[in-house]
Amino acid sequence: MPVTAPESADRAAIITVDDDPGVSRAVARDLRRRYGEQHRIVRAESGDSALDALREMKLRGDLVAVILADYRMPQMNGIEFLERAMDIYPSARRVLLTAYADTGAAIDAINVVDLDHYLLKPWDPPEEKLYPVVDGLLDAWMATDHRAVPETKIVGHRWSARSSEVREFLARNQVPYRWYASDEPEGERLLAAAGADGLRLPVVITPDGEALVEPADAELATKVGLATTPSKDFYDLIVIGGGPAGLGAAVYGASEGLRTVLVERTATGGQAGQSSRIENYLGFPDGVSGAQLTDRARRQAAKFGAEVLTTRDVVGLEVNGSARSVRFSDGTGIDAHTVILATGVSYRQLAAPGLDDMTGRGVYYGSALTEAAACMSQDVYIVGGANSAGQAAVYLSRGARSVTILVRGASLQRSMSYYLVQQIEDIPNISVRTCTEVIEAHGDDHLESLTLRNTANGETETVSAQWLFLFIGAAPLTDWLSGVVERDDRGFVVAGPDLAIEGQKPRGWTLDRPPYHLETSVPGVFVAGDARAESAKRVASAVGEGAMAVMLVHRYLEKT
Ligand SMILES: Cc1cc2nc3c(=O)[nH]c(=O)nc-3n(C[C@H](O)[C@H](O)[C@H](O)COP(=O)(O)OP(=O)(O)OC[C@H]3O[C@@H](n4cnc5c(N)ncnc54)[C@H](O)[C@@H]3O)c2cc1C
Repeated sequence: MPVTAPESADRAAIITVDDDPGVSRAVARDLRRRYGEQHRIVRAESGDSALDALREMKLRGDLVAVILADYRMPQMNGIEFLERAMDIYPSARRVLLTAYADTGAAIDAINVVDLDHYLLKPWDPPEEKLYPVVDGLLDAWMATDHRAVPETKIVGHRWSARSSEVREFLARNQVPYRWYASDEPEGERLLAAAGADGLRLPVVITPDGEALVEPADAELATKVGLATTPSKDFYDLIVIGGGPAGLGAAVYGASEGLRTVLVERTATGGQAGQSSRIENYLGFPDGVSGAQLTDRARRQAAKFGAEVLTTRDVVGLEVNGSARSVRFSDGTGIDAHTVILATGVSYRQLAAPGLDDMTGRGVYYGSALTEAAACMSQDVYIVGGANSAGQAAVYLSRGARSVTILVRGASLQRSMSYYLVQQIEDIPNISVRTCTEVIEAHGDDHLESLTLRNTANGETETVSAQWLFLFIGAAPLTDWLSGVVERDDRGFVVAGPDLAIEGQKPRGWTLDRPPYHLETSVPGVFVAGDARAESAKRVASAVGEGAMAVMLVHRYLEKT
C-alpha cells in the first residue's frame, strides 16, 4: 500500500488512513489544501502501512498532531488501528471517519481509544464539516508542549555501563542527543517502534530513524557522521591523540601546508574536553568549557584541511626506512614522513573491591559532565585532590544536594590551584574530607554505599552513596611504544635534551645532530603535551608544544 509522506520532516504531521484509494486521496487533498503549508499530510491505505509509517516517524523524531482513520477497513478496523497508533503517538488527536450506519461503533470507540471526534462521511463542504474539527484538534494539540526530536536518541538504562559510555561518547564528540530511560513510557514506545525487546541496551536511534542495538563506538561514529577511515595511505604528518596538544599540532600542521591526519582513540578533546570550565587558558577571561574549546579547535583543524579520525586506536609504531608507520587495532595502518605523539594521560583505575563492578553504574572516571543532570538533588562523592576534581565539585554542586571531596592528603592546598580552593570554600554544599580513601564499594545493580578509611587513624566508616566520581593520578598509556621510543620508568616519553645521558646521544640514534627539543629517540617522531616526560600538564603548554612540534617537523623535513 502506498504511503505518501511528502515535504519537510520538521512540521507536525496529519495522518489519514482509508482503504478506499479514492476516499483516501480526497481526504488528503482537502487536508493539504488547508494545512499543507504548516503540516505534513501523510496518507496510507491500510492500518498496517499507516502503523509502519508511524513507527518510522517515531524513530526519526517527527511530530504527529492528528490521525484520521476510516472505521470500516479490512484486516484492521479504524478503532483497532487507532488503539495501536496510540501506543506510538499517545498525544496525537484521534478522529474516526464513519458512515451513518457506524455511528454506534464510533460512540463506543470514544471509550476504547479516547476518541476526540468522529466525522461522518461525506464531509462536504470541508469548510463546514472537516476544517472546524481539525482546527480545534490542532489548537488542542498545540496547547500542550510538543517539540520535535530530530537529533540522535538514546534509549538506555540508568544503571547500564554501556548506556553511560555511549552518552559520554556522543557528548564528547559534540553530537546532540536526547536520552530516554528504557523503563519510562516514551522509552518503551521508542523501543517498540524499533522492534527492540529492551534486553540489549542502549538502542541508539540516528536522526534518519535507523535503530542501532548496543552499537560499538566505531559504528556509532560512522552513523553520526564522524570520519573513521583515512583518505590516503601516506601523509606528511600523523598526529596521534586528539587532546589540546594533538589538535594544536593538527591546526598548525595543516595550516602550514602539511598533509596532516589526526588519529584519536575515542573523541577529540582529550582530558580538556572533560573539563567543565578551564579558567586559566589565555584569552578566555571568563573561562571556557572543554567542549567549546574542543569544538572550535576541531573546526579550525578541519578548516585548514586536517583529516580528523575518531575511534581509531593506534597500537603500533614502526620505522620503515624514511617512513614512519602507524598501525591501528584492526590491523590496518598508514605511513608518514613524521609523527607527533600527543597521547596524553588517562585516569588510573582505583583498585578497591567492588569499584570495577560498579563502573558505569554509579562509579565514573572523570565524565562528570554527562551524569550531572542525573545527580540532581543527590549526594555526590568525588575522589581526587587536583584541579580536575575541584572543577567537577564546583560544577556538580550546582544541582547536587551535597558534594563531598575525598582526598588522601592532609589538605587540598598542595594539589589544587588557589582560585579553585577559594571557590570550593565559598560553596556551602561542598565539603572536603581530608586523610580519607575509598577502600570498598557496595551495591547490587548500582552503587549503594562506600567504605571509607581515615588514613591518619585507620578508622573505617560506611556511608550511603549512589554517585562516585574519580579523578585520580594520571598515567600515560604508552606500552605500545615499548622498545620503539625511550620512555621513563612511569611510561612518559622522553624527548630532546632529556635523552642525552652524560652528553651522549640516545641509544640507536644514527644522525650526526642531537635530537631536536621535542624529538623522541626516533628521528622524525616527536612528542607533545602530557605524554612527554616532565611536561607541565596544562592546556596552554600542551597546545604550545603541539605548535612547536610542527615547527620542528618542518626543520626535520627540510634536512632529510
Ligand atoms: C577534568 C579536567 C580538568 C582540567 N582542567 C584544566 C584547567 O583548568 N587548566 C589547565 O591548564 N589544564 C587542565 N587540565 C589538564 C589538561 O586538560 C591537560 O594537561 C591537557 O588536556 C593535556 O593535553 P594532551 O593533548 O597532552 O593530552 P590529553 O588531553 O590527555 O589527550 C590525549 C588524547 O590522546 C588520545 N589517545 C591516547 N592514546 C591513544 C592511542 N594509542 N591512539 C589514539 N588516540 C590516543 C586520548 O584518547 C586523548 O583524547 C584538566 C584536566 C582534566 C581531566
